Amino acid sequence: MSKRRPLVAGNWKMNGSLALVDEMKSALEASEFANTDVLVCPPFPYLGSLASDGFILGAQNHSKFDAGAHTGETSAAMLKEFGCRYVIVGHSERREDNNESNLDVAEKVETAINAGLIPILCVGESEQTRDAGKENEFIAEQLDAVLKLIGIANVAKIVIAYEPIWAIGTGKTASPEQAQAVHEFIRSHLTKENADVAASVQILYGGSVKASNAATLFSQPDIDGGLIGGASLNAEEFLAICQAANA
Ligand code: PEP
Repeated sequence: MSKRRPLVAGNWKMNGSLALVDEMKSALEASEFANTDVLVCPPFPYLGSLASDGFILGAQNHSKFDAGAHTGETSAAMLKEFGCRYVIVGHSERREDNNESNLDVAEKVETAINAGLIPILCVGESEQTRDAGKENEFIAEQLDAVLKLIGIANVAKIVIAYEPIWAIGTGKTASPEQAQAVHEFIRSHLTKENADVAASVQILYGGSVKASNAATLFSQPDIDGGLIGGASLNAEEFLAICQAANA
């Protein structure tokens, strides 16, 4: 079957400035990626000023609650109102820094879908888990928590990002073969529930993607684009990665 439409998402994490907003906005507005969806996920304060026709907007997090007495939180509906189409859910940094459990992540996936956002569900193993040969088992558990809550039909409304923790921000990228093996596993795991949904869900790779390694990663049959951290803060580098997906 033909591959799914590529998607490249830039996760600025807690980085950025109004100067970067302007730089990225002009760079992306001047570019055209006919075959690829390009998504920018800045910190909350920059969402309003980044809204533009040249690319799609995503947030990095949202509350699992809909509204009410949750000081400091931001709801999925608010993000939708601010022009976000996507939201990153379950990034390993949030799982670690904020103790987000598989259940918390599943609840956020559900809340995002209910608000009309597309959650980008991040899954991925630590170095220790990979060394023990248990990466598939670990990822299956992360996926199953979400499947249990939202059901396989709703997986058609999400994007999955495989992000091995040992490759995030380390400069140590998974080889195209290592990444492809896990993407294939994720698809086969979902196939047990519904083959059509499994075949059509976009699965992104994230972990030290750069312009220099993007093309070989994206050429793998089950890799549909990337979730880009550090390299998304440099307009030239990010555009080159988007170009690799669009080729
Ligand atoms: C990320 O933040 O999701 C990420 C993959 O970061 P980096 O590209 O810097 O490894």
